[in-house]
Amino acid sequence: CGTTSLLPMTPKKPQQWLQVVGHAGSFHVGDYGTLLKRFCEGEQQCYLRLMEDTLKPFVPAYHGVVQRDEQDYNMMDNLLTNFNTPAVMDCKMGSRTYLERELLLAKERPQPRNDMYEKMVAVDPEAPTVQERTQQAVLKTRYMQWRETLSSTTSLGFRIEGFWKSNEECHTNFKRTKSRDQVMAAFNNFVESNTHIVWGYLRRLKELRQVLEESVFFRTHEVVGSSLLFLHDWKGRTGVWMIDFGKTAALPAHLSLDHRTPWVEGNREDGYLWGLDNLIDILSNMLPL
Ligand code: ATP
Ligand code: MG
Ligand code: MG
Repeated sequence: CGTTSLLPMTPKKPQQWLQVVGHAGSFHVGDYGTLLKRFCEGEQQCYLRLMEDTLKPFVPAYHGVVQRDEQDYNMMDNLLTNFNTPAVMDCKMGSRTYLERELLLAKERPQPRNDMYEKMVAVDPEAPTVQERTQQAVLKTRYMQWRETLSSTTSLGFRIEGFWKSNEECHTNFKRTKSRDQVMAAFNNFVESNTHIVWGYLRRLKELRQVLEESVFFRTHEVVGSSLLFLHDWKGRTGVWMIDFGKTAALPAHLSLDHRTPWVEGNREDGYLWGLDNLIDILSNMLPL
């Protein structure tokens, strides 16, 4: 986690921002409660379309491209602005976090990779097959797919990337948080067992689900590697927004997704809504009957 604080634009409120996960150095705090994220054209296209879509209230407002030190940035609202030292969680949505295009690229050059073998063994010495062990290498496609099964990505359609509570260090040790119970325990820690906060999140997630089911943007995009950002503060304010469209890809005109049908290579389904269903179900189970 990095924290940044700038001179206040409005006298009373210093701009606060912290980054839960993601590439460090890609962000700057902008003026007037905005955030600058290193420019990515695909992400810009998504934000431009989202500003015209029914999903607009569920994403940070987009303000165009700005330059700083010869680098372009997408300028968007800093979602932390309306909270008082909020707790923040990043949940990466979907049942896979690589694009079909990335899988195809990896398949075109099927080289056995020793570095990926080493990473695999470091996490789980039992994971490689006999053949992989003999070669001391795994294919990139195999590594990509194995990695998704470690966390809840494959089994629940989302995973916790990390969270931050004021006065605590960042919690990012969720790479092997997989079962419903483990996910629930992590959420419970994040909200400090406060059912009022859980109610707030559930209400918002159910609204989001309704809008997603009708959204033209959502139907026409493969939404991969995108997160839901959860925010709450000691006043009991809660909010959830969709962020990170760096890997979200527009579909060809004849194709649309329901985001619940299981993925088979070629159908481009991403499991986003299936993951949201599971998330809503898990949070519902945190409330008293
Ligand atoms: P990765 O692709 O590795 O997930 P990234 O570089 O694409 O990361 P994001 O996922 O967009 O970056 O953002 C990283 C973190 O920055 C988020 O987890 C969140 O904590 C913070 N962040 C991003 N966008 C906003 C925003 N609009 N308002 C407040 N915080 C934000
Ligand atoms: Mg991200
Ligand atoms: Mg990203």
